[in-house]
Amino acid sequence: MNDQLRQPVAPDMVHANIIGGQDVEASDGDLLDVLSPADGLLLARIASGTARDVDAAVKAARAAFEGAWGRLTATERGRLLIKLAHAVEADVETLTLLETRDVGKPLAQSRADVTGLARYLEYYGTAADKLHGDVIPYLGTHFVGVERVPFGVTGHIVPWNYPMQIFGRSVGAALAAGNATVVKPAEDASLTILRVAKLARDVGFPQGALNVVTGLGRTAGAALTSHPGIDFISFTGSPETGTAVQTAAAQNHVGVTLELGGKSAQVVFDDADIERALPVLVNAIIQNGGQTCSAGSRLLIQRGIFDDVVNAVAARFKALRAGHPERSPDLGPMINQAQQRRVEKYLEKARQDGLTVAGEGGIAADAPSGGYYVPATFLAPVPHESTLSQDEVFGPVLVATPFDDEAEAIRLANGTAYGLVASVWTRDAMRATRVGRSMRAGQVFVNCYGAGGGIELPFGGFGKSGHGREKGFEGLVEFTTTRTLVIAHG
Ligand code: NDP
Repeated sequence: MNDQLRQPVAPDMVHANIIGGQDVEASDGDLLDVLSPADGLLLARIASGTARDVDAAVKAARAAFEGAWGRLTATERGRLLIKLAHAVEADVETLTLLETRDVGKPLAQSRADVTGLARYLEYYGTAADKLHGDVIPYLGTHFVGVERVPFGVTGHIVPWNYPMQIFGRSVGAALAAGNATVVKPAEDASLTILRVAKLARDVGFPQGALNVVTGLGRTAGAALTSHPGIDFISFTGSPETGTAVQTAAAQNHVGVTLELGGKSAQVVFDDADIERALPVLVNAIIQNGGQTCSAGSRLLIQRGIFDDVVNAVAARFKALRAGHPERSPDLGPMINQAQQRRVEKYLEKARQDGLTVAGEGGIAADAPSGGYYVPATFLAPVPHESTLSQDEVFGPVLVATPFDDEAEAIRLANGTAYGLVASVWTRDAMRATRVGRSMRAGQVFVNCYGAGGGIELPFGGFGKSGHGREKGFEGLVEFTTTRTLVIAHG
């Protein structure tokens, strides 16, 4: 089995940047090792992009914007995106396996991400020629039209947790709006994005419309976000790097959307349908090993049912196994050793603080010893003020806190620096609406939870979760600005 797993996915395991439609090595020839999260072994090598590579990519994008790409009609751009969606669908087997080997997602989750990417491309492809401006009543002697126009060249910093989906929602929308793009994938999650960029080349995207520079965040990423040739930036990642990105954008006076994660609460009232809720409560944190910005990482449970719900969730956690992502585990490994250590440190601190582990899963016996596995862990009760209730852990760690009444539930749910997603579980429709509308979160679900999903639904945060919206039609509008044309006609 192990020999089979070590077979390279592609004959050539060394991947260049894609700049102006060409495969281009890093300007200084440097490469980065890509390790498999499943076993810590070498999987591939990618170009370690430099500021010079970024500069070449931005210039190629500018040339495309002012040339062949910029001349296409919205309908033609949309058709290319739809062709790319079909190419992605046709490539589902390879992309699925590549993603699983690169980032450690169980195969079913990688497959869902490929499907999600194809759907984003289809959604924005079909929306491209539905994006239109406005006519404004003004002086009787003038006609005023407001056009929706692309920014020009957009920069995209994509993280490692959902590379294909985040590429789809961000780059797909930017291209549909008519921008030319430069993408810097996370160093741990570049392989599928490079492959999709090659598919784009194959289906006929003009050279330079979609450029990919791989490499380190602090070099290639920083060079991209501070480049004066970038007109708008889309960033998903940590609040700390988000601050650096927004600061760089401010130097060049360009806009930025930031999606910076969350500490999302699921509020369970005592009249909720618990049987229906249970699998959703667990999956909302276990999906992608908890490495999901919209993970449901906090349970707020009404006191009268607290013990019963905690016991039922704990029983499910005890059965969860982290294991090799190609063997259908409940959850795969963390993306890298640093992330594994980060989660372990949170758990060590929680134990030192005397917090109770209500249910802990395990690591599959056949999980390779060099992989970055962490058992799913459920702690309850956890005080609202504790680090574990306030910090984004980004791992398979769930906490539960009791509440007494509606007012307290709202106060606790809104009581972190974040505000990305929330959910309300109750059979009382009026309460669901009242509490739902009190949530300081970009998305609120009632009797369901949408971690990672919802291509059609605007997505983004309040507070430390960032600003700007991606996904849905609103996500397309974000990649445009307006030009108002005033015509005097007498
Ligand atoms: P980062 O925010 O550092 O990484 C996100 C992206 O930013 C990656 O593509 C990274 O590239 C890039 N990047 C890093 N530094 C810079 C920079 N100076 N300028 C421009 N781009 C840069 O997050 P980490 O990977 O370090 O993860 C740490 C924590 O961040 C996680 O534990 C989690 O809490 C949070 N996170 C949240 C995500 C979300 O979906 N909201 C996604 C990922 C992380 P590279 O990887 O090559 O360094």
